[in-house]
Amino acid sequence: MPESVIPEIDILWITAGLSCDGDTVSITGASEPSIEDLVLGIIPGIPRVRLHNAVLAYRNGNDFLEPFREAAAGRLAPFVLVVEGSIPNEKNKAEGYWAGFGTDAATGQPIPTCDWIDQLAPRAWAVVAAGTCATFGGIHAMAGNPTGCMGLADYLGWGFRSGGGLPIVNVPGCPVPPDNFMEVLLYLLRQAAGVAPMIPLDDQLRPTWLFGYTLHEGCDRGGFYEQADFAPRYGVPQCIVLLGCWGPVVQCNVGKRGWLGGVGGCPNVGGICIGCTMPGFPDKFMPFMDMPPGAQLSTTAVMTYGRTVRALRKFTQASMNKEPEWRKRDHKVSG
Ligand code: SF4
Ligand code: SF4
Repeated sequence: MPESVIPEIDILWITAGLSCDGDTVSITGASEPSIEDLVLGIIPGIPRVRLHNAVLAYRNGNDFLEPFREAAAGRLAPFVLVVEGSIPNEKNKAEGYWAGFGTDAATGQPIPTCDWIDQLAPRAWAVVAAGTCATFGGIHAMAGNPTGCMGLADYLGWGFRSGGGLPIVNVPGCPVPPDNFMEVLLYLLRQAAGVAPMIPLDDQLRPTWLFGYTLHEGCDRGGFYEQADFAPRYGVPQCIVLLGCWGPVVQCNVGKRGWLGGVGGCPNVGGICIGCTMPGFPDKFMPFMDMPPGAQLSTTAVMTYGRTVRALRKFTQASMNKEPEWRKRDHKVSG
């Protein structure tokens, strides 16, 4: 067995960044694998998993906090730290705190989320940012917000390495698509078991196999775009780029993967892409309901080609929609 084999591992999931708990809610819909598959230990070849997430836990209060306290004190290892929600700047005000998680056993005072991250991240075997808030700051990090919040890599540093020698793993999405997150977690557990190489990440620390293509490249409506068949309003099947879809430049796989069990995916079901997986979200994609600035130029460029091929395809299609002459009853066989 390779030396890196880890027989069992805790997953300490902090939901107490600035967030809506939507990423935790999202992963309850995962199926590749499901949380149940993971915690019940039915997937062979990975460490036995103990999941600690306040939204999903049966334990509460001090009982729930115990593994977090043990890990912070260096008495629980190995563990994967998952952070959900954006990380506030607790140094930008004279008193108070923006986000906290549990209370200090000695003082009874709330413990700021940043203190937990400071203590747990360097000790974690791997550190994962779940959802756009934790990865890049998200909605909470919009210009002008008072919290000064940011993504985990901006907080810990982009060169951060976990106790296991891994960079932060960013899995963006608002919320994170359930199977994207669980697939990444499974990959890391396979890596911990010594049966997968170092997780491949892009320069924004996103897994390359999930974020290597644009939404547009896997969209149900891509054929309409290519033929310059653009929807003038919602509720029709054509491409919705003129209504505000950013799919041609956004790295996201929900066009192919869907949301739950392969079903859904924003443009597939008629919703414009607002770029929620991207580091520039939300400010650089606003106002959401307007046509993206480059769309006028790109759709004009597609127009000549698209309309020509659409006309030619209609011509060919009309011919292909007719049976060959020799299948008719009265067809005379020559010769
Ligand atoms: S709906 Fe969006 S992602 Fe889909 S083809 Fe049109 S522009 Fe591309
Ligand atoms: S399609 Fe766009 S809005 Fe929808 S999840 Fe992907 S990046 Fe976010």
